[in-house]
Amino acid sequence: MKVYFVGAGPGDPELLTVKARRLLRQASCCIWAGSLVNPELLKLLPDGAEVHDSAGMDLGEIIDVIRAASDRDVDVVRLHTGDPSIYGAIAEQMDALDELKIDYEVIPGVSSFQAAAAALKTELTAPEISQTITLTRIAGRTPVPDEQDIERLAATRATLCLFLSVGRMDEVAEKLMRHYGSGCPAAVVYRASWPDEKIVRGTLADIAEKVQAANITRTAMVLVGHALARPLSKASRLYARDFSHGYRKGESS
Ligand code: SAH
Repeated sequence: MKVYFVGAGPGDPELLTVKARRLLRQASCCIWAGSLVNPELLKLLPDGAEVHDSAGMDLGEIIDVIRAASDRDVDVVRLHTGDPSIYGAIAEQMDALDELKIDYEVIPGVSSFQAAAAALKTELTAPEISQTITLTRIAGRTPVPDEQDIERLAATRATLCLFLSVGRMDEVAEKLMRHYGSGCPAAVVYRASWPDEKIVRGTLADIAEKVQAANITRTAMVLVGHALARPLSKASRLYARDFSHGYRKGESS
């Protein structure tokens, strides 16, 4: 018996890995994250499969389902949105399984930051502009360690992919402006790869307003960085201009 932590991808069922598809087709017990995973994927399960939505379950209840499956020697597919290793809360589940000596494996998935980049048709890295991609979030109910505060990360001027942060777009834009400059490209992708996907493009100066106008408050990826500018030649010019600008402003304030 084994537990498979499977990445469901960002939404589009065709963005599932071949391995995830095979495991779903074989699974007679599946625990899925109902709030974000596409329910279409459940159609892959064999008839009569046991299905649990983890949205309304706590860790203990999830482990109880797994333990019961283990008693029956039935494999479990634990379906997580995007890639399970990013804000997936799989560590505590794996710790509990270690204690119970239940075997498990992780199957990676396409993360929503990748689906958002694809929706924007953008490259997240650009020579001399950004060779680093920072995956992070703004502090919310879950705190962020001080040294990883978004303002400190912004000093690197890396391309930023922000999870779980669109609800506080005002604060994000304001904090980033000093380092990236107010003209820095920013984009928000709501439900990347779903049929109701929405894209909002702007700059740090106007993105918060545009996101509010589009009524996007959740399930969106925020991307910020000069690498998002097109054509790229414009990005390097903007970058150079913005850099001295932002720097001088930063120094004097
Ligand atoms: N493990 C997931 C992230 C889970 S945290 C992954 O790799 O994508 C949940 C956050 O992910 C959401 O608040 C949102 O910021 C982002 N997210 C998940 N699905 C998304 C999608 N289809 N489009 C845009 N953002 C998404």
